[in-house]
Amino acid sequence: TFDLVKRILNQKATELFCIFLVAGKLIPDLGSFIMFRSSLWRLYLFLVCCSVVLISSMGQYVWSDVKNEELRELNYLHRLISRSAHDQLRLQAAMLKILSRRLIDIGLFDDIKRSKTIMDEILQDNPVFIAYGLATLDGELVITSSNLNPDNLPNILENPKSRDSFLHTLERDNLTLGRTYYYQPLREWIIPLRYAIRDKQDRPVGVISTAITIDGDFNPWRMMDPDDDTYVVVTKNATSDDGFYTQYSDPSLYPIGNEELYDVAYPEEAIKEIKRNIIGQSGMDIETFMRSEEIVQYEFYDPIIGQLLIDSAAYNNEFEIFTSVSRKYLSIVEKFKATFLKYVFLFFLFNLVLYYIVRYIDRIQAESKKVLEFQACHDQLTSLPNRYYLEMFFASWQKKIGDRYSVLYLDLDNFKIINDRYGHSVGDKILNVLARRLLSYTPQDAMMIRQGGDEFIFLMPYFDTKKLHQFVETISLRLKKKIRVDTLEFSLNGSIGIAVSDKSGHVLDELLRKADLAMYEAKRSHENYVFYSDRLQEISNERAQIEEALQNALEYKEMYMVYQPQIDAESGHVIGVEALIRWVHPTLGVVPPHKFISVAESTGQINPIGDYVIDTVFREFKEIQSIWQSLRVSVNVSVKQLLRNDFHSYLNSKSAEYGISPSRLVVEITESLFIEDFDQIQALLTQIRNDGYTIALDDFGTGYSSLSVLRRLPIDVVKIDKSFIHDILTDSHDIALVKSIIGIGKSLNIPTLAEGVEELEQVVLLELYGCDLFQGFFFAKPMNMQSLHSFLVNYTPQKYLKSKDMMV
Ligand code: C2E
Ligand code: CA
Ligand code: CA
Repeated sequence: TFDLVKRILNQKATELFCIFLVAGKLIPDLGSFIMFRSSLWRLYLFLVCCSVVLISSMGQYVWSDVKNEELRELNYLHRLISRSAHDQLRLQAAMLKILSRRLIDIGLFDDIKRSKTIMDEILQDNPVFIAYGLATLDGELVITSSNLNPDNLPNILENPKSRDSFLHTLERDNLTLGRTYYYQPLREWIIPLRYAIRDKQDRPVGVISTAITIDGDFNPWRMMDPDDDTYVVVTKNATSDDGFYTQYSDPSLYPIGNEELYDVAYPEEAIKEIKRNIIGQSGMDIETFMRSEEIVQYEFYDPIIGQLLIDSAAYNNEFEIFTSVSRKYLSIVEKFKATFLKYVFLFFLFNLVLYYIVRYIDRIQAESKKVLEFQACHDQLTSLPNRYYLEMFFASWQKKIGDRYSVLYLDLDNFKIINDRYGHSVGDKILNVLARRLLSYTPQDAMMIRQGGDEFIFLMPYFDTKKLHQFVETISLRLKKKIRVDTLEFSLNGSIGIAVSDKSGHVLDELLRKADLAMYEAKRSHENYVFYSDRLQEISNERAQIEEALQNALEYKEMYMVYQPQIDAESGHVIGVEALIRWVHPTLGVVPPHKFISVAESTGQINPIGDYVIDTVFREFKEIQSIWQSLRVSVNVSVKQLLRNDFHSYLNSKSAEYGISPSRLVVEITESLFIEDFDQIQALLTQIRNDGYTIALDDFGTGYSSLSVLRRLPIDVVKIDKSFIHDILTDSHDIALVKSIIGIGKSLNIPTLAEGVEELEQVVLLELYGCDLFQGFFFAKPMNMQSLHSFLVNYTPQKYLKSKDMMV
């Protein structure tokens, strides 16, 4: 078993070596593959597998190449050695034949002295042989060359080592090799060579016996000893089973001495194995193989030297010798290793380079992935986290902060105007400065997110209202602080909605929605910030209901117009009416305009409604116009409506359609208009006014308008908001305000109209300050066209003038 394992190991050493190498390389690769699982590492693994397949098939190729080369070389060596040995043996055979003839010529055995002289002469001329002897058929050496003394030489027939071959010599007419043995008289290991001398009747009469030494210079096989790894083994008749070596080319490699090498028969089992190999490889039986003299090659484990060999063997019929040239299998393995190592080195180099390339690409990929991730999670302009970031990291943020936190929703006021007027690059710069500024005031563990456009979200780690108040105050203050872009200076306002999570904790989306709602309310009510409350939710729900109901309001004819008279302060005459819209919904009931107009504005439904108002007013007014020719009608026009491209032409077309002069129509616009593009509005209003329409500025005093605005716009009437009139009798602040508005009107030569006049005392006071026109429940409530008709018929300014006089 041990031998077998050794055999396999020798043969498979390289293959095993490769397997270990590959496994050693593959295991760490497999590790990184599992760790990364990226397609790149999978590709890498694939390439490594490919290179493994390549290297192993390369190994196979190199192996068979090296082995075939060795076999060819061995075959060639065999031919060379056998041929050379064969030629020498022939020469020596000829020599012995000459000697025998000369001995016969002088009478065999007769002239001992002359025979001896001839032998000595030939020995001198031909140093191949070590000595000569002439033996009788009984094996007795009677005449010898001078270097031997025939008196005490052993009988050839009596010696078992020489007996068989001696008898065999007598049967052959050729040089016959004897068994190699230690010849005491000469003190040498010799290969005996014998030749039978025959008489005229071809009967053997004597035998010439000579020998060559196994390690002498003239030994034909010794001369051809090629190298350390190659043996030449000659056996007289290995195949006839005597199992003794005739010549072993390199006994120094042999682990045992000559005694055991030449005197001990080669193991029977091994001989059988050789035979089996010969039969297997040549496809012939032994006799045919011997006759054919063909070279056969096989692998063979030599039990004596304990090595696997490859043999190249053939049989020589002429001299009855079996020659095998063997080479250690390991030497092939060595050669293979030497060649293959270059490929293995390349394989390693390739893998190493590949590994570093892949690792390099992987790192680049990881880095660009990081950059991409950052880009995906952050706003490009301000580098603030974006909404996606919020989605990704909210959970971990909340884990850190706990269930109770608050959400702030900030929306800049009128930022669109900056973008429109100064361009987006200016807008972007402002946003950038602002973002950095606000971020610097945001607490460490809060989150500031750019939601998009001019909207920002703050996630605050606390819910304490006092702290939140403080924070929004600072934010609002910071917003107002001037921002310089190039030569321009900007001061911003923002609306902030705040939603606080309660004890139960809120889903983020819900808080965001609430904060958004609160922000919307802040915008609507012009507050800096608004905390979310359930009331806001109610309003929002109501708006949603209104929004839905509005969709069919016009189609179902749920809307109609009412008119409220406007009175000239001095004469007490009705100089005009204001048209006001009314909506009665089957389930919602009466919905006042201040509730649905803003909804309609945000949904865009203000357009059909606005058209309906203008059309209806013109149509209904046509009827009474013929009677009260100087009466004017005021129409409320929303910002959205006014800024529509076709508003002006629509107005003109309706004026023409119903035959009502533009001088009869007053367009009421509100102050909130001025947040939009001032220049555009100025141009538009000028055009409208040039066509003969009158322009009234509604709700004056509630917005941001200043004296300069009033001066630059083509305004014909200023309407003082009813909220100031309401408390005019009690609130000194309101008195002052109304007084100054009337004063401005006077100085700019613009008449003023007081809205919401409900009491006579108000009328008297307003007239005292110089107010020109009145409108309010004191005179008349808004009424439909029919009621207006009868109102106008019955109205006399006398009643009003009288009571006024009484007051005074
Ligand atoms: P506004 O233009 O300021 O209209 C005057 C509002 O004051 C009217 O409310 C009117 O009914 C009310 N009013 C008149 N006299 C008195 C009074 O003595 N005391 C009190 N407390 N109120 C008085 P209304 O009709 O509810 O309209 C509210 C707002 O809706 C209007 O304010 C106007 O801005 C808007 N609006 C009404 N009709 C239209 C319309 O046809 N188109 C557009 N765009 N807006 C309209
Ligand atoms: Ca109005
Ligand atoms: Ca008003």
